[in-house]
Amino acid sequence: MKIIPVANPNIGINEAKAAYKVIKSGWVSMGKKVEEFEKKIAKFTNTKYAIAMNNGTSALDALLSAFNITNKDEVLVPSLTYVSTANVVMYKNAKIRLCDSDNKTFNTNKDFLEKSITNKTKLIIVTDMKGMPVDYDLIKKISSKRRIPIIADSAESLGASYKNKLIGSQLIAHSFSFFANKNITTAEGGMVVTNNKKLYEKLKIIRNQGQIGRYNHVLLGNNFRMTDIMASIGIEQVKKIKKITTEKNKIANFYNKELSKIYQIQIPYIPKYVTQHSWYNYSIKVDEKFRNKLVKYLKKNGIETRLSFPPIHIQPYYVKKFKYKKNLCPNAYKAYLKFIDLPIWFGLKKSSQIKIINVIKSFFRNGNC
Ligand SMILES: *Cc1c(COP(=O)(O)O)cnc(C)c1O
Repeated sequence: MKIIPVANPNIGINEAKAAYKVIKSGWVSMGKKVEEFEKKIAKFTNTKYAIAMNNGTSALDALLSAFNITNKDEVLVPSLTYVSTANVVMYKNAKIRLCDSDNKTFNTNKDFLEKSITNKTKLIIVTDMKGMPVDYDLIKKISSKRRIPIIADSAESLGASYKNKLIGSQLIAHSFSFFANKNITTAEGGMVVTNNKKLYEKLKIIRNQGQIGRYNHVLLGNNFRMTDIMASIGIEQVKKIKKITTEKNKIANFYNKELSKIYQIQIPYIPKYVTQHSWYNYSIKVDEKFRNKLVKYLKKNGIETRLSFPPIHIQPYYVKKFKYKKNLCPNAYKAYLKFIDLPIWFGLKKSSQIKIINVIKSFFRNGNC
């Protein structure tokens, strides 16, 4: 039986040829291709500046450095996010404050953020969970009222749009990831986009060991550079992003239509301000009593799924360090127990989509719950 994978990158001969050309040229580290890739992402996201990094975590880390986050500061982070969003706060020895998620969107929202703000809060990070934008206009009100900058971990939402505008220019800075399972990939890779020239210039220095001029290090930077080999792959990938997003939206619509007929399944809730979802993940929610049974049943039938990442406040490292209790962020925890990510990727055949639907339907028909 052929397994249907949960994600599958769309990389082929064009990426291989582009990478080979760079290798043959003799210049493989950061150079012209990185610049070209940055320009392409800036253009795609309608932003002025883009700074490529070696991965999405570095992009966030560089942003925290640019905002001068130190051990005297506190940073708000949603609990329901990938571990990077929280780890970058720990790298600065800053105080982390976790926020719960909205019950319907799984994203953090204005109320949870406002409740968590203290007089030490110096920065807020929000995450576009599963590729669905947060309510930026509402969230931005916090920053104008209290003068606390907010940045977005948009690792999963490249290609999504908020009120008809592509993700990238809603906040002062958005970071993206080009890891293999993201909507476009350079194997590993990341990017920050911004319209703020000062921030752009500072990030470029931080990315390159804090260097201005040769061996003159004015800031504590790091080596977060992307290579021209990765960038050449990225340039080919940007050409496909619209196609990939459209196709994933079609698959999601089909899943929505079919799975909404099964009363035991909650399909993703999409607020009106989300005018395009990137569908990094397509996650259904089912009762935790039979979630694992359904996952096993799908696996037995050749369908790979994923359980979403656990919220930060139950991750062993964080629990040990801060003695977090499960009810610290109850919505995040409850959602995590119910999620199942179904296969969604460019090129997933209609027959596979139908098979996935039919296997799920047969699970419930056979009285497994
Ligand atoms: C993938 C991802 C990251 C990290 O990106 P890497 O490129 O793997 O470092 C950060 N945040 C979220 C929400 C992600 O999904």
